[in-house]
Amino acid sequence: MRLRYQFRLYPTPGQRDALARAFGCARVVFNDGLRARQDARAAGLPYVSDAALSRLVITEAKKSPERTWLGEVSAVVLQQALADLNAAYRNFSASMSGKRKGRKVALPRFRSRKDSRQAVRFTRNARFAITAGRKLRLPKIGDVKVMWSRGLPSEPSSVTVIRDAAGRYFASFVVETADDPLPETTGEVGIDLGLTHFAVLSDGTKITNPRILRRAERRLRRAQKALSRKQTGSANRAKAKARVARIHARVADTRRDHAHKLSTLLVRDNQAVYVEDLNVTGLGRTRLAKSVYDAGWAQFTAMLEYKAQRYGRTFARIGRFEPTSQTCSTCRVKDGPKPLNVREWACPACGTVHDRDINAAKNILAAGRADRRNACGGTVSPSA
Ligand SMILES: [Zn+2]
Repeated sequence: MRLRYQFRLYPTPGQRDALARAFGCARVVFNDGLRARQDARAAGLPYVSDAALSRLVITEAKKSPERTWLGEVSAVVLQQALADLNAAYRNFSASMSGKRKGRKVALPRFRSRKDSRQAVRFTRNARFAITAGRKLRLPKIGDVKVMWSRGLPSEPSSVTVIRDAAGRYFASFVVETADDPLPETTGEVGIDLGLTHFAVLSDGTKITNPRILRRAERRLRRAQKALSRKQTGSANRAKAKARVARIHARVADTRRDHAHKLSTLLVRDNQAVYVEDLNVTGLGRTRLAKSVYDAGWAQFTAMLEYKAQRYGRTFARIGRFEPTSQTCSTCRVKDGPKPLNVREWACPACGTVHDRDINAAKNILAAGRADRRNACGGTVSPSA
């Protein structure tokens, strides 16, 4: 399985300049490529092939006086920027033809120097290396100091260098890892992801967001409000923006740590993990601050999925059509929709009093078991 391993980088001022040049060149090549395709389309000409585009915006461009500086950065960085563009076009057409599931993918857009995230990718062809002194050697940039928080399980096939909105640098390595199945266990769990709790488990456990995260999120909301009151283009606005970016970065880090710990625990203790495939787009139409949550949910379920695969566990998403919060988990009677403020209800058929979220988690577990039983041809025994 391919995994990403991310580490903080500490480039020197000179290396930062070189990275800024690389980000800039990659952006120019990406934008030139996009413009060439757009122009061809507007002129009714055929789609510019990947090879033709590379010739046009890299090889030929380097010979022109306005683009000679493209030679100052690793050629791989430029090729990878075009590879991103090509992938964006492929995703777009796959989405249009229905081959790609999920939300519709839009046509690629121009990159800006003002984008909060800047990135360049080096593949093995670029001969990046980890030096004897444990630094990351990047062509035309230098040996950059890395904060290694853990080891790499194998030789990385590529590294993406990222500068985030808070001005921090990261190296994201792509490594191939072997599956590492854990001894089998009997536990199974259904997980309801929600707004009042981060997650509620079918065994009744409720997991809240850690207090530190809630505090940071409050601070983020306040900082965002302050930013919105600042005048466009003012020095105070720039300062407020940097502050928002810093808090954002800290919130994202804390959330990721929390998701890592919880997903590892759940995958280790259970042979099968089921979650509801959330209707995040639907939630977006409500007044709930969904942006704070949906990113966290997506990240968490993605972690569950890859960890389950890696450790030999079952992971499944339960379809949205299951009315998990309307069905009694004891007698399966459907009791109709309930507004979000109804936290507890009594089943009209069997009289069981349900906690809304725990009942949903139990139904997710039941639906997951049923799917698994069908898939396995009846080898999984049904249980209460
Ligand atoms: Zn009932």
